[in-house]
Amino acid sequence: MIEDEPKLASAVKGGLEGDDYTVVVVHSGEEGFFLLCREAFDLIILDVMLPGRDGFEILGAVRQQRIPIPVLLLTARDGIEDRVQGLDAGADDYLTKPFAFPELLARVRALLRRGTQERPFRKKLADLEIDFGLCSVSRAGQTIELTTREYELLAYLFSNVGRVVSREMIAREIWKEVARQTPLDNVLDVHLTRLRRKIDGPFEKKLLHTVRGLGLVLRDGD
Ligand code: CA
Repeated sequence: MIEDEPKLASAVKGGLEGDDYTVVVVHSGEEGFFLLCREAFDLIILDVMLPGRDGFEILGAVRQQRIPIPVLLLTARDGIEDRVQGLDAGADDYLTKPFAFPELLARVRALLRRGTQERPFRKKLADLEIDFGLCSVSRAGQTIELTTREYELLAYLFSNVGRVVSREMIAREIWKEVARQTPLDNVLDVHLTRLRRKIDGPFEKKLLHTVRGLGLVLRDGD
């Protein structure tokens, strides 16, 4: 459960544990995303209004990386836009706050019954492999340790294998900002350089290519 209101979080945790579920609560989107990349969960209960990266951003990142977990979204407002945006972004169900605990429980049961949808878990390019379920990356059978940002970058490049992606696209998709002679431009360079060093550095065959004036492409061959 990713929820920044401690009272609500502990009430839901207590209720669900009373029903024999195991619940881990984190209070920010960043923490939640970090954890999702490191442990296996059956369901995410995700609050929309969070400090830092909000619920929609987390949901977007989860779906972009094809983490195959059902998501129950908690929306504070009774606005239809939130629900539509949430479902469009890949939420499996939503609850509007305030809600009655039995209703949450019923939705949790329904989502777990429906189970994990079949989604492609892994992609491979030459000997570079990404596992979207475990958020892990390996090359030539060796695990490569990436930071969350580096992983997001690579996952984005992997979902566009063979296609050139511009710096603007990366800035928009990963940082949700526009890169244009801003500090973000430098940040992006730093992350790209590190990512390149990790996935290509020790290997003769390079997979991440710069296309001058256009951007980057992940592909097998020049
Ligand atoms: Ca909140």
